[in-house]
Amino acid sequence: MAGTQQPEVNIGLVGHVDHGKTTLVQALSGSWTDQHSEEMKRGISIRLGYADATFRECPDLEEPERYTVKTECEDGSESEPLRTVSFVDAPGHETLMATMLSGASLMDGAVLVVSANEPVPQPQTEEHLMALDIIGIENIVIAQNKVDLVDGDQARRNYEEIQEFVEGTVAEDAPVVPVSAGQEVNLDLLIQAIEEEIPTPERDPDVDARMHVARSFDINKPGTSAADLTGGVLGGSLVAGELESGDEIEIKPGREIEEGGQTEYVPIETTIRSLQAGGETVDTVTPGGLLGVGTGLDPALTKGDALAGRMAGPPGSLPPTWQQFTMDVDLLERVVGTDGGEVDDISTGEPLMMTVGTATTVGAVTSAREGECEVNLKRPVTAEPGAKIAINRRIGARWRLIGLGTLQE
Ligand code: GDP
Ligand code: MG
Repeated sequence: MAGTQQPEVNIGLVGHVDHGKTTLVQALSGSWTDQHSEEMKRGISIRLGYADATFRECPDLEEPERYTVKTECEDGSESEPLRTVSFVDAPGHETLMATMLSGASLMDGAVLVVSANEPVPQPQTEEHLMALDIIGIENIVIAQNKVDLVDGDQARRNYEEIQEFVEGTVAEDAPVVPVSAGQEVNLDLLIQAIEEEIPTPERDPDVDARMHVARSFDINKPGTSAADLTGGVLGGSLVAGELESGDEIEIKPGREIEEGGQTEYVPIETTIRSLQAGGETVDTVTPGGLLGVGTGLDPALTKGDALAGRMAGPPGSLPPTWQQFTMDVDLLERVVGTDGGEVDDISTGEPLMMTVGTATTVGAVTSAREGECEVNLKRPVTAEPGAKIAINRRIGARWRLIGLGTLQE
């Protein structure tokens, strides 16, 4: 097994259902289920499918042939690792758009997968591109997939349709790389495009660590004696700073407690006992990919995602916890979904479901004005001013994405 490296950049895989996102991730990362230890596999990768891939280079070969994910080059020599990237395989179904949007706050760039054998755009191709646009993800590569299913003329026509479709959008200048994920054709060209278009962002190791907790669990087998219990585990992503084994962390909003019919949240402090990244136990982690944090917490506290949606960082450093907030609102033109109608303005009194980072909370609008609104939350969230908020409205029986908010000071 080639030396594993910690992923240093998160790349979203977006596009219409069945266009080949998962197949592409598999082709680039090998089997992606063995990337993480058992509890990570069970726990973290489910909600947002993550898979790590190490891009490698064959020093003696020309571009693009020099790019590969294999350890052996076509000329028989051994390839050298360039960097490890973490793919976030966004769910294709429109009901999961909010997950993608909130997960997208962790995306440093995106690969938009478009099938060569269907008219452009399909509904989710359009929606996902719109989402990249509103989140402001500018580093984009377009993979024109399934070229094995079309002839040269069809491929060219489809390529032109793609160019026409992205004109005037954030993906206007994105390279379009014809590939076959299924037949593993042109993966070298795709890796080259990703290397050029989606650089690893510069990170400041001296800023306070910020972890978005996406999952939390109790990894002990039932019946483990108290003396042998392993502390609670947090899973999620580090978006800034560094964490080291032995560090003290604070988790906010923290633990839910009932007092005299009132629900309160009490911040939790604990010590990091172990860290996992890139499928390995490590001493230090930096942003990129998924992270598992073993803590000294009573596992009963972390069981069953009880701490999902929290933020963790050095004690005293975390941003405010909001029970109510005001946000700037950018509404979509149409409701996300194939039968989506126009989006009506937000009105005072209506309930909204909001995703902030990894937290999802329901709130009532206490005041709606032009371009902004004030909401009172059922469950508080910890977030920096300026944080992006996916706004969903109940339409019929379902919550549907209607816009993007920005948390005001
Ligand atoms: P997703 O919904 O975007 O994740 O799409 P999947 O990766 O699940 O692929 C959907 C279907 O298309 C599967 O049956 C794949 O085997 C098939 N598929 C994916 N990539 C290719 C390709 O490059 N060529 C062909 N012929 N089929 C592909
Ligand atoms: Mg898929």
